Amino acid sequence: MPDVTPIPLAQLTTLRTGGTPERMIDASTTDELVDALRDVWSGGDPWLVLGGGSNLLVGDGPFEGTVVRVLTQGIERMPSPRPGFTRLKVQAGHEWDALVAYAVSEGLAGIEAMSGIPGTVGAAPVQNIGAYGQELIQTLVEVELIDESTGDVSIASAADLGLGFRTSALKHHYGSVPARRAVILTVTLELAEVGHTERPIAGEQLRTALGLQPGEAVSVAWIREHVLATRRGKGMVLDAQDADTNSAGSFFQNAIVSASFARTLPPECPRWPVSPDLDPVLVIPLAAFDGYVPPRESVESDVKVSAGWLIEHSGVRKGFKLPRSRAALSSKHALAVTNRGHATAAEIAELARFIQGRVQSEFGLILQPEPVLVNVEL
Ligand SMILES: Cc1cc2nc3c(=O)[nH]c(=O)nc-3n(C[C@H](O)[C@H](O)[C@H](O)COP(=O)(O)OP(=O)(O)OC[C@H]3O[C@@H](n4cnc5c(N)ncnc54)[C@H](O)[C@@H]3O)c2cc1C
Repeated sequence: MPDVTPIPLAQLTTLRTGGTPERMIDASTTDELVDALRDVWSGGDPWLVLGGGSNLLVGDGPFEGTVVRVLTQGIERMPSPRPGFTRLKVQAGHEWDALVAYAVSEGLAGIEAMSGIPGTVGAAPVQNIGAYGQELIQTLVEVELIDESTGDVSIASAADLGLGFRTSALKHHYGSVPARRAVILTVTLELAEVGHTERPIAGEQLRTALGLQPGEAVSVAWIREHVLATRRGKGMVLDAQDADTNSAGSFFQNAIVSASFARTLPPECPRWPVSPDLDPVLVIPLAAFDGYVPPRESVESDVKVSAGWLIEHSGVRKGFKLPRSRAALSSKHALAVTNRGHATAAEIAELARFIQGRVQSEFGLILQPEPVLVNVEL
């Protein structure tokens, strides 16, 4: 078992918090990863799988269990059954942005708007990563994973993973346990072979972010370059010189509320409809059909509202910090809670609680954290 001397998690997470685990294993091959997990699971002690540490807030005390670092690497290119598409099977520990760079250099489209998202490929399905209207779910075919309950390795199609807005069956949301305790070993994506020619961009959100007119044609490389520049301006690309990037990206999720609750919010608060579930099919047995089809029940779609807007309009401005705290809201992005240097997880959590409290008292809703919280409470 490739045990290593445990490193404090503050050195391995982008929010830079977390004590030292009892045991640490570095898994550089899939066999090592599978063996390590089966070994850890047989002991029944707490465990944590760590990728790039960019979606974690870890408590300051020692982690009384084993941290397994996923360091597997590699991209395998495979034909797709769909003409004009290519499949990439990628090891879980591969850096996500290195995969995007590879896809773009090969003229493959589908993940270029997600350039610059930190972390590993194996963690990408865990919260169905997304940016500028592109989400992993749009290109994910399947993952190879190992389940804690059985210790078996199997293939799960994208449809089996419960992917939703920054969530999946594997995600450990604050206050709940994942529906499926499993570790992803490989991820297979299907990307469109578009080459390096310029094409019009379909997504309005991406066009708006990049200042493109409808019908304006650009290459995938152009999109990557401009997404990276836009993200840098918001402190959303890791940069050791920029304390605004000592974060977990967005600390709070945009809130999904009922249409009637959304009407109680100020009209200026940005909002987007969330597609309602499809109406269940109405089956009328032929013998009972008298020619009358009842009208469809109208289902009012839920509404996603901007957490950033709610925070700023609850009186918490960019750059805000509590007295004597080393945690602050990013000076560039209202959703990013940042570590300005040696802040503890307790200081980060204190600021997050303060923001939640302000938003709740102004607007009546509790923002939910997006990162996974380990040994720390809000
Ligand atoms: C500056 C910045 C910008 C960001 N921007 C975005 C963005 O635009 N969009 C977005 O969606 N996210 C964004 N994020 C969040 C983060 O980058 C993503 O969630 C990323 O996928 C996390 O990957 P990771 O390897 O760092 O995961 P980690 O933080 O190491 O782990 C996160 C969770 O996934 C689990 N996990 C890790 N690897 C595996 C695996 N192989 N199998 C099963 N579970 C696993 C961990 O146990 C943990 O529960 C941003 C973060 C930062 C710091």
